[in-house]
Amino acid sequence: MESKNVWAVYDEKQLKELENHAREYMEFLDEGKTERECINAIVNRIEKEGYKELQACIREKKALKEGDRVYAVCMNKSIVMFQLGKKPMAEGMNILGAHIDSPRLDIKQNPLYEDGGFAYLDTHYYGGIKKYQWVAIPLAIHGVVVKKDGVTVEVNIGEAEDDPVFFVSDLLVHLAAEQLEKKASKVIEGEALDIIIGNKPLIINKDKSEKKEKEGKKKDAAKEAVKKGVLAILKEGYDIEEEDFISAELEVVPAGRAREAGLDRSMILAYGQDDRVCAFSSLKAMLEVKGTERTACCILVDKEEIGSVGATGMESRFFENMVAEVMELAGEYSELNVRRCLATSCMLSSDVSSAFDPSYAASFDKKNVAYLGNGMVFNKFTGARGKSGSNDANAEYLGRLRAIFDKEKVHFQTAELGRVDLGGGGTIAYILALYGMDVIDSGVAVLNMHAPWEATSKADVYEAKRGYVAFLKNI
Ligand code: MN
Ligand code: MN
Repeated sequence: MESKNVWAVYDEKQLKELENHAREYMEFLDEGKTERECINAIVNRIEKEGYKELQACIREKKALKEGDRVYAVCMNKSIVMFQLGKKPMAEGMNILGAHIDSPRLDIKQNPLYEDGGFAYLDTHYYGGIKKYQWVAIPLAIHGVVVKKDGVTVEVNIGEAEDDPVFFVSDLLVHLAAEQLEKKASKVIEGEALDIIIGNKPLIINKDKSEKKEKEGKKKDAAKEAVKKGVLAILKEGYDIEEEDFISAELEVVPAGRAREAGLDRSMILAYGQDDRVCAFSSLKAMLEVKGTERTACCILVDKEEIGSVGATGMESRFFENMVAEVMELAGEYSELNVRRCLATSCMLSSDVSSAFDPSYAASFDKKNVAYLGNGMVFNKFTGARGKSGSNDANAEYLGRLRAIFDKEKVHFQTAELGRVDLGGGGTIAYILALYGMDVIDSGVAVLNMHAPWEATSKADVYEAKRGYVAFLKNI
């Protein structure tokens, strides 16, 4: 059984929809390069479509009824949305889940130093990366600096056309004989991923009084003058002091916008498509679908790339608490009803899947891998070795999904990450499965996953959105 490239099946109307979805998706990628930026981009979009903040509804004791749309944000990094269905929530929800964090370099809490005439920011990488991919490319800094008085300074440097960018240096090939003998995992070490942010010393005004200064003081002024120059710019432009890095979350990401790829413009090359491709397509499906039987729910979480831990990761009680709050406002809260709701829900846990790469064909099983352009992907299981750590979806559930997708003419393929015993990966699926609900891994195929620039097919992005709509309407 072979999966087929889906481009040939579209009519004019669908091609137009596909291009529109791709364009909106690329705008979303440019707006949201961090989880915080994604939350802003999502809230802006859903509030225009009638979504109300859940905490406000709780304060107003607003009774929720069929068709109502509410959302709750956790610490500006994860979000859950609900659109109430015709049936009671205790009969289960249809849940879409994806993550909005992506691999990157995080700036350390005491990062600034000067060496060899350069000012650097020290970083600690986040998520799984091939470190050698992050050198000698333009980088941007996104994030927040929270000052002691509680004021949050938003930082976004490196994206505008005339913004400066940053970079990690690499050794010139002429002197790299020793470096190139090293294993790829050691070629660039984690501690070598510090970004260069300046090379110009602070220029001190040469007034008359300076001439009278003692030699010692002059030397003092010259010490770490490049670092001082950078600090002066940070003070002037952002009112940030060196100590403010302590309470900052600054993420270093590839600079630049999402681009169409290929002469045929069939693909998208962009940073952070894992997993904003599924997050955005899920979001669009939530906004498109109306009048469902069961309550539609969408969870977009942080920290998936480091194990779904913490208050904003999928393992947090945040989601469960918000379900209880919504059920309370819908007049059906009880401990038992919350449990019933979660146990009878169905979920598409969406994340990117590895696309077959002909240059590395031996890493895949050709019959059980996703192909770029062949539609939405179902992964019955993920994990490593003997499916270790995987949520293995039930055949009964897959049977129902196949029937729905065929009925709605959604193009899908089934896949594993790669060849048995070669590696592995996990998602948030197993965490929701703990409630006893049906969960399957699904999503979009990506080429060069976790690289600074990842590639997807516009057709797959579109099919994923269509698949999510079919799921929300039909389960
Ligand atoms: Mn992912
Ligand atoms: Mn990932």
